[in-house]
Amino acid sequence: MSRSAHPAGPRHADVWPEGHYSAPPADLNALDPKVWAQTVTRTDAGEVSVGGIGVAALAEEFGTPAYFVDETDFRARARAWRTAFGNDADVFYAGKAFLSRAIVRWLHEEGLNLDVCSGGELTTALSAGMPADRIAFHGNNKSTDEITQAIESGVGRIVLDSFQEIVRVAHIAQSLGKRQRVQIRVTVGVEAHTHEFIATAHEDQKFGIALADGQAAEAVRRALTLDGLELIGIHSHIGSQIFDMAGFEVAARRVVALLAAVRDEHGVELPEIDLGGGLGIAYTSDDDPREPHEIAKALGEIVTRECEAAKLRTPRISVEPGRAIVGPTAFTLYEVGTIKPLEGLRTYVSVDGGMSDNIRTALYDAEYSVALVSRTSDAEPMLVRVVGKHCESGDIVVKDAFLPSDLAPGDLIAVPATGAYCRSMASNYNHALRPPVVAVRDGEARVIVRRETEEDLLRLDVG
Ligand SMILES: *Cc1c(COP(=O)(O)O)cnc(C)c1O
Repeated sequence: MSRSAHPAGPRHADVWPEGHYSAPPADLNALDPKVWAQTVTRTDAGEVSVGGIGVAALAEEFGTPAYFVDETDFRARARAWRTAFGNDADVFYAGKAFLSRAIVRWLHEEGLNLDVCSGGELTTALSAGMPADRIAFHGNNKSTDEITQAIESGVGRIVLDSFQEIVRVAHIAQSLGKRQRVQIRVTVGVEAHTHEFIATAHEDQKFGIALADGQAAEAVRRALTLDGLELIGIHSHIGSQIFDMAGFEVAARRVVALLAAVRDEHGVELPEIDLGGGLGIAYTSDDDPREPHEIAKALGEIVTRECEAAKLRTPRISVEPGRAIVGPTAFTLYEVGTIKPLEGLRTYVSVDGGMSDNIRTALYDAEYSVALVSRTSDAEPMLVRVVGKHCESGDIVVKDAFLPSDLAPGDLIAVPATGAYCRSMASNYNHALRPPVVAVRDGEARVIVRRETEEDLLRLDVG
């Protein structure tokens, strides 16, 4: 979301240069619980802690940059989704947001299912004991090997993404002597981003099969005739970081219309509909995400209403939140390096990581917050841009934010809400060593993904 479009209009425009911020927060030492993980607090001494452990001790033991996941918060969020959707619906955590074996175990224990979209993610999930029938396999270009691996391991569903794949999956299943449960991913003509959505007839993107021009109906027709497939439902995923439920409403209405058409043509009522993920989280204090129970209620009502109108039995609903579960549960801890004030503009604060551990700012113009966490400060706010150490001027972690003006090299700063799409999109640019992920809970911290080493780099480089 761009705060330059904030309904309150640009404030302090006469004082501060143009940017994406609104105004300095009243208290730079405050930690907004909306953007920080549940157990993050500031101790009396002014240091920030998570799971009862101070950031200085964490930096000392695990180094910086590093991601710290609040396990208590992760489990609470997973459970909140599970509880909100109850027994008549399924919650699939979207593994691409962040996946590791510890995460898979937490999900398993909390009763969630799992979406994967590659052989690597599937292997990770299976190796951590996620039952295959609770895994859904996604992707717009699954390889023959991946399809074979998925069917052989017995995944609960494969989400078919193209006409070619319908035939391919059917063929591989049949040659393995199996009948694979599948859904068909349709594009419903809804483009949803943050606070807006656009409903169109066509979507110009690579995923799914269009509802438009009867294409999805044709896909259903073909899938129903193939012995290797058991068609269990229709899948739709409309976007990411969405706050407005109206996009889901349009999507659900269009999917239910397809279910009704399928019933009319084939006499079959498909038993499931998957409405995808994409629910937004607070990256800054300006974002107001919905709670899982509100989302469950809204989606349930929409689907029930549409099905009643179409005289269909209400199908079993599934959802696929990734960001909304893991995003808010982690922060990235950095050490401040070079500080460069640019007169009349802003101060550039360089940290020991950057676009290699958080590509989202460069890739999507994403907004983040940042705080000084190793101590408090009463100094005046200064407008900063937090940048990394990579050879790229677009190497920005936080585009515009305020930090105390006495910030100094060696201070620790943290960027909250980096649990989703940061470690999972991390790169080795400039031969950076990808940071570890450390889980913290009840006074204990343990590495769940270790830091890369130079040896790791050299092992891949066979010379
Ligand atoms: C990316 C994706 C998700 C998860 O999206 P979030 O924004 O992380 O909730 C769910 N389903 C599908 C099919 C996806 O591609």
